[in-house]
Amino acid sequence: MNKITMVPCPTCKKPVEWNEQSPFRPFCCKRCQLIDLGEWADEEKRIPGAPAWLPDQDDENEY
Ligand SMILES: [Zn+2]
Repeated sequence: MNKITMVPCPTCKKPVEWNEQSPFRPFCCKRCQLIDLGEWADEEKRIPGAPAWLPDQDDENEY
């Protein structure tokens, strides 16, 4: 009964848990959500030189 539903983030294809723990689902994070909404371009202007995305903290997880 505890089956976890995983969905791929539309932006970066990273698996995202489909539950209340993922407020930005189906996106993995707010950043990816902003990218999809087209708002990232505007935010990027305010952060010159910032990478398009930052590595997540759970890299130790195996897909
Ligand atoms: Zn993502």
